[in-house]
Amino acid sequence: MDGLEISPFIKALPKVELHVHIEGTLTPALRWKLAHRNSVKLPYTTFEALLDEDKVTYNHRKEVNGDDGRPTFLEAYFAGCQVLITEDDFYELGMAYLERCKEMNVRYCEPFFDTQAHTERGILAQTVMDGYMRAQRDGAEKYGVRSNWIFCFLRDRPLSEGLEAFHAARPWAKLADGTGKGLFHAVGLAANEFEKPPLLFEEGFQLAIKDGLHVTMHCDVDQKDAADHVHEAIFDVCGGNGAERIDHGLNAIDRPELMAGLKERGIGLTLCPHAYHRRQPTDVLFPKIKKLIDEGVKVCINSDDPTYMHDVWVDGNMQKAYTYCGLSKEDMVKLVKNGIEMSWADENVKGEILQELGTISITD
Ligand SMILES: [Zn+2]
Repeated sequence: MDGLEISPFIKALPKVELHVHIEGTLTPALRWKLAHRNSVKLPYTTFEALLDEDKVTYNHRKEVNGDDGRPTFLEAYFAGCQVLITEDDFYELGMAYLERCKEMNVRYCEPFFDTQAHTERGILAQTVMDGYMRAQRDGAEKYGVRSNWIFCFLRDRPLSEGLEAFHAARPWAKLADGTGKGLFHAVGLAANEFEKPPLLFEEGFQLAIKDGLHVTMHCDVDQKDAADHVHEAIFDVCGGNGAERIDHGLNAIDRPELMAGLKERGIGLTLCPHAYHRRQPTDVLFPKIKKLIDEGVKVCINSDDPTYMHDVWVDGNMQKAYTYCGLSKEDMVKLVKNGIEMSWADENVKGEILQELGTISITD
């Protein structure tokens, strides 16, 4: 974190995390362990070489920035997925993240997952979701961290493939009619956004809505047509009602009608400051985040893919917002409250975290 320390105040804050990809929490240690357990060959001969690779700042998008020889983030991310084979592997991945949540005082989270990156490698969707379900149950029992998960369509794959994945995953959803195993309660849109606007997946969103599931979607920062994608997510998707949340969406700041739309429709942004800070200078990025807050757009702070982003987790992202936006303790408590309000947790879970948040001292 470039010398920035996580303060006792940030550490102690009870937190929620709404934007984290479970495969993006795969630590080098767990990747190394699973590669050996499953005889998956890694392109590193030593653990130290693997650790060095993780210090790389990836090429954001070759389509946008050109190919400078560095891997893209998504190439690294999907390479990491190769070691996940058995139900126990997915369980361990989930449990490792939830254990880390406990250490960071994250009380509730909504991790993203997808099945497509795994079924295309011959892994059954059931293997993936049964592993995560066990982690959901045991993480709540053992670490006290409650979670509702979010199924993602991979937007750089064909819609038909995504719909097929959703149909296969549906028995693991928390369906409106009370059936379903209860792993996930929402759908999202992830992976490479280049020329893949949100509306392409409208059919998937409609199916999810019919099942009583929530809908969120990524609008990546400074992607090609970024502001147009935010426009679709606010005004056009879900039959014109817009998504319930937007993941990232920082480019809303580029157009007044987007800022107004977010506020009017009460759509919050799940921001991940360090993800942007890798590519934008401090004095460019953090005034934008501050402007969103000052203008009354609801935002909360999250980590995205911590192990592929210099090991900066949700607490580190909150520290960055606190320090570089020049926020007060009261502001930080408000950001956590935003996250609780933007979450789709049960009311009793929300109430418990709000109550705990009320005990935090905000006098300096
Ligand atoms: Zn993300």
